[in-house]
Amino acid sequence: MTQSDYQFDTLKVRAGYDPKEHNYSVAVPIYQTVSYELGDTARVDRLLSFSELGWLYTRITNPTVHVLEQRLTALDKGTGALAVGSGMAAVSYTLLNLAEGGGRIITTPRLYGGTFDAFKKLFPKYGVTIDFVDDPDNIEAYAAKVTDDTKGIFVETISNPNAALVDIEALASVAHNAGVPLVVDNTFATPYLFRPFEHGADIIVYSATKGIGGHGAALGGAIIENANFKWDNGKFPQFTEKHHLLRDRQTDVLRSFLDLAPTFAFTLRVRLTHLAYLGAALGPFDAYLLLQGLETLSERISKQVATTSVLIKYLEEHPKVVWVQHPAAKGNKYRALAERYFPRGTGSVFSFGFRGTPVEYNKFIDSVRLFSFQANVGDARSLIINSPKTTHGELTNEEQAFAGITPDTIRLSIGLEDPVDLIADLEQAFAKASE
Ligand code: PLP
Repeated sequence: MTQSDYQFDTLKVRAGYDPKEHNYSVAVPIYQTVSYELGDTARVDRLLSFSELGWLYTRITNPTVHVLEQRLTALDKGTGALAVGSGMAAVSYTLLNLAEGGGRIITTPRLYGGTFDAFKKLFPKYGVTIDFVDDPDNIEAYAAKVTDDTKGIFVETISNPNAALVDIEALASVAHNAGVPLVVDNTFATPYLFRPFEHGADIIVYSATKGIGGHGAALGGAIIENANFKWDNGKFPQFTEKHHLLRDRQTDVLRSFLDLAPTFAFTLRVRLTHLAYLGAALGPFDAYLLLQGLETLSERISKQVATTSVLIKYLEEHPKVVWVQHPAAKGNKYRALAERYFPRGTGSVFSFGFRGTPVEYNKFIDSVRLFSFQANVGDARSLIINSPKTTHGELTNEEQAFAGITPDTIRLSIGLEDPVDLIADLEQAFAKASE
């Protein structure tokens, strides 16, 4: 039996790690080192020519980080991965790798606030233009934005904060017809709930800070690829041009990223250029914490999804609550997409609004005792936040409306506590809010 035959739950605790290669250590060792003995000068030439694979410097590669990369590759059934210091680094490096210096990316306003703000205000300064569709539910709207300079389509598979979905296979067709990759941020789903490569996506990015780590203890991000997209279709010379970093020191022959790494050209290029020179490396201890989190991914996420359904039902029946947005909520317009793409559920982050004034919304949040008021999701603890003021606070009122975020939005991320206690906490907060 080879590793690729194992089921998801076996891979999440085993993939990418062989104790025999690490002094038979059962837990993945934390290689807390910046650099590695190079051996002799001939070996350095081999390492820098990629004729021998080995460790050089932790900003580029580290054995603990490498296990995380291999494990994430296995869970998503990809062919290569790169772990970086945060989800934002994963998003930013991916976009720069696709469209640096003059490309366009098509996206939707339904994004994490930091991503939206960076897309709108930062990326254009680096020559990356972002085209936002007006109606993210209309697949034709994405097709209508395609131009000769388009280099990719980017969406969140479950959006922050309202858990909106999009037809990934239809979007993959739009991208592929345009000769560009579909890039998805699969943070809210995690590979346990959704495996984007099985539905046509070409690049997956994660904030591993969230459900993957699952304990709110370490920041991290990842970029994962599979070998389906044809980077040599003429639109992406950065993967086919000979590159000075890929010179064979023995023969002086220059190679391209596709020559050297046909199945992981995308992540190798990010590793050797953006990660190497912009530098948001993941530290080995944080990689270890994220690996620990991954070991219980299915158990945590399935319990969180089950508790989320209980909480949604409670809120739907609450006389004060006006709306709940999550595919598991009554009448949600993404129910059909959820049934088609997410048989295990659509995650544990959702939003709701209740009948009240802005003062009462604040009082509600100030009154919770068990829910933690903080800007994270996917934690073992349940979290609450007023998204329009915080996670999406960089957006103007118009931008928030464009992203579908109303001023009364309260976002919950459901953790591992007993739902009875979570409901009791919300109940007493509702009572205090209207006192
Ligand atoms: N993507 C999504 C969907 C997020 O919700 C976040 C953060 O909230 C990020 C990316 C950025 O991740 P990080 O905080 O790890 O940089």
